Amino acid sequence: MAQHFERAVVTGGAGFVGSHLCARLLEDGTEVLCADNLATGVLDNIRHLLSHERFRFRQADVTTALTVKGGVDAVFHLACPASPRDYLRLPIETLRVGSRGTEHALDLADRKGARFLLASTSEVYGDPREHPQRETYWGHVNPVGPRSVYDEAKRYAEALTSAYRTTRGTDTTIARIFNTYGPRMRSTDGRMIPTFIHQALAGEPITVTGDGEQTRSVCFVDDTVAGLLALAHGDHPGPVNLGNPHERTVGELAREIRRLTGSSSEIRYLPAPVDDPKRRCPDISLARAELGWRPRVSLADGLNRTIGWFATEATSGEPLRKVAE
Ligand code: NAD
Repeated sequence: MAQHFERAVVTGGAGFVGSHLCARLLEDGTEVLCADNLATGVLDNIRHLLSHERFRFRQADVTTALTVKGGVDAVFHLACPASPRDYLRLPIETLRVGSRGTEHALDLADRKGARFLLASTSEVYGDPREHPQRETYWGHVNPVGPRSVYDEAKRYAEALTSAYRTTRGTDTTIARIFNTYGPRMRSTDGRMIPTFIHQALAGEPITVTGDGEQTRSVCFVDDTVAGLLALAHGDHPGPVNLGNPHERTVGELAREIRRLTGSSSEIRYLPAPVDDPKRRCPDISLARAELGWRPRVSLADGLNRTIGWFATEATSGEPLRKVAE
């Protein structure tokens, strides 16, 4: 069980979660190679890391190849469009990075004898019939619906990861990440929290899809990254749910963001998208027992940190509006 990684490869490291993970690994003394094709990530996410002596960025598409010279003791495979707006815009690319991209990342870990972590998703549970979702639940997924390009890519990636473990002995693990939010999300990526914050700060209507009674559980990115690292440093094969078990309605989240931003935006209800899950909440008993992990950041704290970032950084220097203290 490695307590410290000498050298890690992070695919998708210029994305939202990946950029936070790269920063944490550098803080831990690890040398980090970030491989990203910037399909949905941006250089701005890692600009502050580029001058770090232990950080390397390689603009590369992991579906074509992933070769690295020298030793590697951890491969974190995060590369994949993750917001519905992105994967609906990039359906074939999403399937390809889940299949070929995962295979290349697994091959790299296998060749190097590295620990491999797949960033999977709560979407493998689809629109769940079991609640809250435990890792033993097999899911309720529409294989030909619009979201299938993401859900099935991740389900395939989980199957491939399991096959490498059982047939080749690759040291793999699978994290099933639930909704994560925080600084560096893009306000245009269509995900709920950045959309609500952007709308509230801009004084635009906050658009809730459906009746707002559908539930989500949202986890601050620092907590998710801590969970990914705990899982990578252990020897559990996964899958392990990482998320915040506190379930809230989407309407409640919209109202909380409006309150914390001091906004007077109206809340406007729009039709729900196809196959939108009604309830989503992780059972994190396994992560608690095996990793001693649970989310630590409160919703108000996490939202305030995210709102603060959106108010100052997200608009390239031009503040949208002063945030209520
Ligand atoms: P993101 O879109 O911000 O990051 C994904 C990164 O992968 C981007 O930088 C993108 O450019 C890169 N990428 C995509 N295709 C690539 C390819 N072929 N080659 C190289 N790089 C490629 O998304 P995120 O929210 O940071 O998600 C990161 C990972 O975590 C994803 O695998 C996602 O499925 C998983 N996840 C995230 C959440 C969440 O709430 N953020 C929830 C569940 C799972």
